[in-house]
Amino acid sequence: GESLLKVNDLKKHFPIEGGVLGRTLGHVKAVDGVSFAIEKGETLGLVGESGCGKSTTGRMLLRLIEPSAGRIVFAGKDMTKLAKSELRELRKDIQMIFQDPFASLNPRHTVGRIIEEPMIVHKLGGKKERKKRVRELLEVVGLSSYHAKRYPHQFSGGQRQRIGIARALAVKPKLIVADEPVSALDVSVQSQVLNLLQDLQEQFGLTFLFIAHDLSVVRHFSDRVGVMYLGRIVELGASKELYEDPKHPYTQALLSAVPVPDPNYQNEKIILSGDVPSPSNPPSGCTFHNRCPMAMDHCKTKVPELKELEDGRLTACHLY
Ligand code: SF4
Ligand code: MG
Repeated sequence: GESLLKVNDLKKHFPIEGGVLGRTLGHVKAVDGVSFAIEKGETLGLVGESGCGKSTTGRMLLRLIEPSAGRIVFAGKDMTKLAKSELRELRKDIQMIFQDPFASLNPRHTVGRIIEEPMIVHKLGGKKERKKRVRELLEVVGLSSYHAKRYPHQFSGGQRQRIGIARALAVKPKLIVADEPVSALDVSVQSQVLNLLQDLQEQFGLTFLFIAHDLSVVRHFSDRVGVMYLGRIVELGASKELYEDPKHPYTQALLSAVPVPDPNYQNEKIILSGDVPSPSNPPSGCTFHNRCPMAMDHCKTKVPELKELEDGRLTACHLY
């Protein structure tokens, strides 16, 4: 296949201010050397606990957050080398769906205006065409064209997320970064929105980076899944293999926490000891060593590199 997006050794280190005379006290290594590629039409799931750097990674792809280092190549162009003006065009091609659809929709604007906004920003079509497209988009996401005149507060959470999706689709993006798009929704509504996203992917040939803290959410939607811990990817592989046979002890622990639908099968829940360390002061060696049930002596000193196993998956662990 052909990569639409290639991310190479991406980093975001936030300075910690507050020292004497505003000196920097250190850095939070929110994202610390992340690499992956996404093929056209593919969905890559990015999973990890809160604070692991998955949202920061997603936001850097849109340059909502400036990377500290690394490369982002989108459709053959190095985004990190582009001027702001050149970025504009690429910004159209990458759109984001946010976790909280209410916070991301302007409460004073009608839904029609909200969906039209990105078309205005990117100078797409005349007024009449834009209005027509708003009506079409509302129907595409399962709402009605008369909803264009209403305001965000008049909709349920699931409907608001549909509005957010319509807005993201308005400029015909190639890549959608969906940052926990269903985690703020009722469980009963989650699968409806996930199904919609899958339908839209087929219909429009979309490519997704799908960010979630819950492995069960990305399971059926993702072709491949990357698991992040403290700013790094610790395992990356095809969904099926990763779920059926997780290799990294952290992936194993995350998966053991996911309820199993089959009552005849009970997986043993792996309880991780200790809290997630602060990304401003990560443990030496393997940053998971203080919580890992399989930790060995050299895990405390030697950083495990992301290595390819026989089935093509990548794992950063000294056990392999
Ligand atoms: Fe556990 Fe060591 Fe593997 Fe890290 S490298 S995940 S501490 S076994
Ligand atoms: Mg987040």
